[in-house]
Amino acid sequence: MKTLRSHVYGRWHEATSGFVPLLDPSTEEVLAQASSEGLDFGAVLDHARELGGPALRGMTFAQRGALLKEMSKVLREHRDELLDLSRRNNGTTKPDGSFDVDGASGTLAYYAALSKSLGDRYALPEGEGVQLARTEGFWVQHVLVPRRGVAVHINAFNFPAWGFAEKAACALLAGMPVITKPATATALTTEHAIELIVEAGILPEGALQLVIGGTGDLLDRLGPQDVMAFTGSADTARKLRNRPNLLAANTRVNVEADSLNAAVLGPDVDPAEGSATFGLFLKDVVREITQKAGQKCTAVRRILVPADRIDDVQDALISELRTVVTGNPAENLVTMGPLATSQQLRDAEEGVAELARTARLVYGTGQRIDGISAPEGKGFFFAPTLLRADDARQAGAVHEREVFGPVATLLSYDASAVAAAEIAALGGGMLVSSVYSDDAGWVRDFLTSGGGAAGRVYVGSESSAADAPGSGAALPQALHGGPGRAGGGEELGGLVGVRLYLQRVAIQGSKTLVNEVTEVSA
Ligand code: NAP
Repeated sequence: MKTLRSHVYGRWHEATSGFVPLLDPSTEEVLAQASSEGLDFGAVLDHARELGGPALRGMTFAQRGALLKEMSKVLREHRDELLDLSRRNNGTTKPDGSFDVDGASGTLAYYAALSKSLGDRYALPEGEGVQLARTEGFWVQHVLVPRRGVAVHINAFNFPAWGFAEKAACALLAGMPVITKPATATALTTEHAIELIVEAGILPEGALQLVIGGTGDLLDRLGPQDVMAFTGSADTARKLRNRPNLLAANTRVNVEADSLNAAVLGPDVDPAEGSATFGLFLKDVVREITQKAGQKCTAVRRILVPADRIDDVQDALISELRTVVTGNPAENLVTMGPLATSQQLRDAEEGVAELARTARLVYGTGQRIDGISAPEGKGFFFAPTLLRADDARQAGAVHEREVFGPVATLLSYDASAVAAAEIAALGGGMLVSSVYSDDAGWVRDFLTSGGGAAGRVYVGSESSAADAPGSGAALPQALHGGPGRAGGGEELGGLVGVRLYLQRVAIQGSKTLVNEVTEVSA
């Protein structure tokens, strides 16, 4: 059986005990085993600090960007292998796997291109310099320089390629060495991606290490110049952020966690009229429920619809959900794969049972089903599931529990933008909220009252219907992260995500010298 290996201190490490099996979630066949036993995390950190950090800091932003371009190229060249691993270990259909794998190479390519605009410089000036005395003899310029530590990246199971790449792109561009740790259950794709990058000899020694399995005492060894970026459940995030040494050393921590994203249908959009805006709403919401079997942090969990339209919207959604074919993605007919693990299946079943205390099931059973082209009784399949709560403000767990599967709840509201914003905000902070309306005034009211509850607001309208990719797409140009329950983190968004790994420094001195040091032209 394949044993996944960590890539640490310049070589591959294969554990000999403490294994966790990795399964094909469609068949429950064991594909591989993983463990981090025997890793010396002190040596892993030393390797990054002593070799990777200095090598990366010795390069300019543009030079580091060129490394990202090579990484992107390698992943693109081996796309089919990665998609195959994603299907086998994550249970993804080809389009779902591509969302992850092409998302990874695309994000690396985006940051490679961005680096050209940053240029051949070692520090990024921020804003204009300011005179601090009567003459230019005393001046200040803010600049961003790489932090001297290590970036530790802990990723969720649902995006083994993109999750690694979107974080690594920002850290490497900033000049910080990376230690990446994928979720163990679905680490096959990440392991191969790193293997391809290592074999291509793109990065300087110590710039990128891979930890397969548990993190041992790694996090207890982090210090004040390090960064820990975590994506996963709010529960794990809470435990990790409260580790005494991270608090004591004030290690920079970024969290991307749960999110009860809301899609809101504006009152100007009448389902009976069959407008482009309603068509986009329907297409987006169905995609956001079923893509990656709903195992997406940006998936739509709550659907807010004006009370007098909710029956029509429910019928339209159910008729689309009926066309979804759930099963083993090895079969071409299948449009939705299984959940990734038995634990996720159990969580989804328990989650729907909890939601059903305050909402009623209107489509699906909330239980495991057999998938097509999968052995009977095997596989973690869960059909698309729709619930409905007519009293949105009393919907309890609907605003608190993220069911990480193809599950969403319809909620009715009274057509006012302020009410919609208030109900959406009951989720305690979202990565994204989508609104579908052609009434700019209504959308402005929604944004003013409730935009702050989400990191991103996606407006679906007639004028965007042909181009909008769906609210779930976390594009590198736009901020990814949200307040409260969503973790409070900030990733991507062009330079926003890179800043996490940079230290802002105010350089004071004479204007001439400060400008020379910071490469600012006078
Ligand atoms: P999880 O159980 O919290 O695990 C996330 C990661 O944390 C995994 O790599 C896991 O490793 C690691 N981990 C768990 N306990 C740890 C510990 N004590 N020390 C160090 N690492 C630890 O989450 P998940 O089930 O993989 O992912 C699903 C959740 O992620 C959902 O809630 C979803 O909303 C969220 N998510 C958020 C975003 C976002 O961008 N906001 C994106 C994707 C997913 P092991 O696998 O080895 O246990």
